[in-house]
Parts: sequence; C-alpha cells; structure tokens
Amino acid sequence: MAQQLSIRIKSLPVSQTLSMAAKARELKSQGIDIISLSLGEPDFNTPDFIKEAAKRAIDENYNSYTPVDGYLETREAVCRKFRRDNNLIYTPDQIVVSTGAKQALANVAMVLLNPGDEALLPAPYWVSYEAIIKLCEAVPVPISTDIAQGFKITPQQLEAAITPKTKLVFLNSPSNPSGAVYSQAELRALADVLVKYPDIYVISDEIYEHILYEGKAFSMAAFADMYERTITVNGLSKAFAMTGWRLGYIGAPKWIAQACTKMQGQITSGTNCITQRAAIIALDAPVSKIQYMIDEFKERRDLVFNLLNEMEGFIVEKSAGAFYFFPDISYYFGKTLQGHLIRNATDFSNYLLEKAHVATVTGDAFGAPKCLRLSFATSKALLIEALKRIKAVLA
Ligand code: PMP
Ligand code: GLU
Repeated sequence: MAQQLSIRIKSLPVSQTLSMAAKARELKSQGIDIISLSLGEPDFNTPDFIKEAAKRAIDENYNSYTPVDGYLETREAVCRKFRRDNNLIYTPDQIVVSTGAKQALANVAMVLLNPGDEALLPAPYWVSYEAIIKLCEAVPVPISTDIAQGFKITPQQLEAAITPKTKLVFLNSPSNPSGAVYSQAELRALADVLVKYPDIYVISDEIYEHILYEGKAFSMAAFADMYERTITVNGLSKAFAMTGWRLGYIGAPKWIAQACTKMQGQITSGTNCITQRAAIIALDAPVSKIQYMIDEFKERRDLVFNLLNEMEGFIVEKSAGAFYFFPDISYYFGKTLQGHLIRNATDFSNYLLEKAHVATVTGDAFGAPKCLRLSFATSKALLIEALKRIKAVLA
C-alpha cells in the first residue's frame, strides 16, 4: 500500500539533538565505547526530596485526569516561583502547566501564529523552535550572530528583521546552544525596539535560568511595558534534573493562557498527576537545594573551556550559562583528516563520532553552520577522556 504521510510530517525535520543521542545510544549498545556530548540532559539524579513527593502522591492516590491547565496548587507554586525568582506577578489563571517546556512552546506558537506570519529567531537557536514555527506554517526568520558578538543580537539587528508580518520573537537566555546570557540592559535595549511594534509578542524561554555562572538572569516580562506581550516559558527538566518527568509551564496574559489550555485540552489533556504533585515541592524549594549541581556544572565548564582552548582551530567563547560549548570549528572546513574531507560542521561531527567515538551536534541544527555543540552535562572524567580523544583525531 502506498505510504501517504501528510506534507506536514514529511517536511518536518527530525530533532537532531534527539537523533544524535539515539545514534550514540545505538552504537553503545553494539559495544562501541561512545562518549555522548550530544544531549543537553543533566547527568544527576532527581533530588531525593522531589522523589519523595512523587512517592507520596502515588500513595495518596493522585491518579485521575488532572485539570487541563494543571492543578491549582501546582499553578500557585509556579506563581510563587515567578515572584521569588523573576520578580513576576502572575495569578494562577495566567499559568498553564504542560508536558515539558517543549509542549508549552508549541502551544504558544500554535495559538499565536497564522500561516505566513514571521517569527524572529536569534541564531544560534534551539533546534525545536524552527520546527515548531514551521509546523504552524509560519516562517522562521533567523537573525544571525557570531562568536565575536557573543552570540547575542543587537537592537539594530532586531529592528532590521521586523516586517509587517512579524508576530513573534523567540528569546532564550541563558542560551542553548551558545551559553550566552543577556544582561538586563541588553534586554532593555531589545525591549526599546519592541515597544514601537505593539503587534509583536515575545516568547522568553528561561529554562536555563538557574544554570548560570556569570551575570544575572533577567525576565523580559519583568519590564512593565513588556509584561502584556511576553510569554515566559520555563520547566523542571534542567534545574531539577527531571527531563523524563516532563513538566514545563508558561506565565502569560490570560487570553493566551486560555488559548493554550484549549489547545492542550484537545491534544494531551493535563500533565501527569504524579509529576505535578512533585513539582509543587520542586518549585517551592530554594535554589540552595540545587546549588550542588550548578557548582558542579561550573567546574566542568571551566575544565572544558581550558581543554577546548588547547584545541587547534577551535574558537571558543566561555559560556555564561546552560551546559554547552559552541565553538567555531570552521578552521577545519576544506581540510582532509585521516582521509576524510571535512566540508562542513556535519562532516566534522560525523568524523568525531566515527574516529573519536565522541557524539556532538552539528551547528547546522542550530542555524550556525560554522559551529559544533558539545554538552558538558557529563562527568569530568568522561569530559577529559572525550576531549583527549578529539585532540588525538585532529592531530
Ligand atoms: N527550551 C530549551 C532551550 C531547551 O534546551 C529544552 C531542552 N529540551 C527545552 C526548551 C525543552 O525542555 P523540556 O521539554 O524538557 O521541558
Ligand atoms: N534540549 C536538550 C538538547 O538540546 C534535549 C533534547 C531536546 O529536547 O531537543 O539537547
């Protein structure tokens, strides 16, 4: 029988972060000693105080369908978190709890974007933004940055990218993949442009806010004149080492939150009951409870930065947040390594996988074709070994 998949799915790219992780897993299962620096996933276990809350929820028989937008108690905990960490005042009817920040982002894009609308995407950007925009039949408009500008867009670049069709701007600070963090002043300068265009909305993805080594994270919605047109996205995956638990959320103007709830009600219903109960405890925890993970990430960052600096042909910026390095490796383009011609970052990443048995993600996936993403969410011993192997196959 003919396979008649929709144009929508046929034109959707596979998530390259997830597919590289799957490839690494498969090679490992074949007995090959692969070190995966591909996935942005904390290697810690979920803290015990959160696991205990989940166990209690099971024993207390939290097993039914949950309200589509999340338990009131969970949304109240989100409000307390926003007030405490971000200086943001939301009421529970402005919060929607979703199955990961990924679903939260997809909801927002789907309820705001019409076919043909343009969504501005500071590049490098996280892989799924572009795919989600395309699923909405909208047009991703990348705004390119490079390492020399710290991978941050300028107000001039933002303004130059705006057209009458612009509907959304994606901001992600700290950034996956670049690790760049916008200061309050830098965000203010971007806001000064946006206030001139009242029909443009901002998605501020703040999922890495706690994985921060320098500077201070600031929320776009904390500017009074941006509050009504900013959707703040966050989740438990990164800060609490809870990637598999699947919980993300938004704080947004009420009409956007209501629309997201309507969307979610037809697609997934409310998020997992056990995760939502555990989330209350996680969201109410002071940052000091997860500081040990942040401290460890910081030590790894410093270690990897020093090792990358020793690598011939790598131009690297020290990440201020998140757990990635995003070096420019274009020095290798056109060179032949052990008989392999390196034409681009994808060839380079494949070469490292094949010869060094180290999995990375090509910069092409993030709209930055000269770069390569390495995640340092893995142990120091493995990081040292991975970089030793990379150095050896580049010699
Ligand atoms: N935003 C960014 C920038 C990310 O790196 C991730 C990582 N998966 C997500 C959103 C989605 O996170 P999750 O769906 O696990 O909450
Ligand atoms: N966000 C993580 C990454 O970029 C997890 C994978 C994904 O969801 O894309 O590696």
